[in-house]
Amino acid sequence: MKIGIDIGGSHIATGIVNEYGEIIGKETKDISTIKTENEEKAGQLIIETINAQIEKLLEKYDYEIDDISKIGIAAPGNPTKKAIRNLVNLKVKYLEIGTILENKYNVEVYIKNDGKCSGIAEKEFGNLKKYSDCIFLCIGTGVGSAVFMNDELLEPKINSGFEFGHMVIDKNGPLCNCGNKGCFETYASMKRFKKEVIKKFKLDVETKSEDVQKYVREKIETKEVKLFIENYIENLAVGVSNIINIFEPEAICFGGSFLYYSDIFLPRLEEKLKQYVFNKEVKCKLLCTKFKNDAGIIGASLL
Ligand SMILES: [Zn+2]
Repeated sequence: MKIGIDIGGSHIATGIVNEYGEIIGKETKDISTIKTENEEKAGQLIIETINAQIEKLLEKYDYEIDDISKIGIAAPGNPTKKAIRNLVNLKVKYLEIGTILENKYNVEVYIKNDGKCSGIAEKEFGNLKKYSDCIFLCIGTGVGSAVFMNDELLEPKINSGFEFGHMVIDKNGPLCNCGNKGCFETYASMKRFKKEVIKKFKLDVETKSEDVQKYVREKIETKEVKLFIENYIENLAVGVSNIINIFEPEAICFGGSFLYYSDIFLPRLEEKLKQYVFNKEVKCKLLCTKFKNDAGIIGASLL
């Protein structure tokens, strides 16, 4: 048995995963509303949450820590082999959680970028299993990704690389968190999509994601919403076609909160891509994730 941990912007989730990539049990804690005083307290919160989740799972499913062969962690941004870095929500700049957990449990701990972990889960056991050249694209708060060529995850030496979210698609576009203008994620992220729907259709700024989605679905046949979606798809297609033109993947699997709109977005995107893809004979399948929110836990267990 292995333990997979997914540290996201809004939650910490820990699962016990078997050798077939199946989650035996999991514990999730919402951390989106937690405000921590300082970095040290935030670090403590993360460690205490994970320890409590591991202990609860071991007890509930009647395992000893000796039954666990490894612990994997999926973390946002650019984690090192033993540390998570730059967690924006919790304001943690650096936390050597790998070493801390290794010392506590005497089990090897591996850490990788969450987009890569989710991609690994889809490639190993999910909807990318049968494709050797393929891409996982997680569109949520930002845009995360993993690229596989000849069945291997492509990994640069320094950081996690493949920052498709910060691929500039309009040099005069909106300002991105990274300091550049017109990055792909300033057009394609679901955070941006939600913000733009609220602004464009004058909804309350506090409108929840589910209600934004409800609004879009109810008004989908109106001229204004149709045009809005068309515009979103146009920008999405520019970014996705750049990726297709570079890698010529057999398939792209989409994850993140993008999934809630996949029935609206994917057929339109497929149509639009015909215009932008350079080599027309490249037939790239557009798929949705099999594991949804569990992809991070499963992928982390496979590190
Ligand atoms: Zn950027």
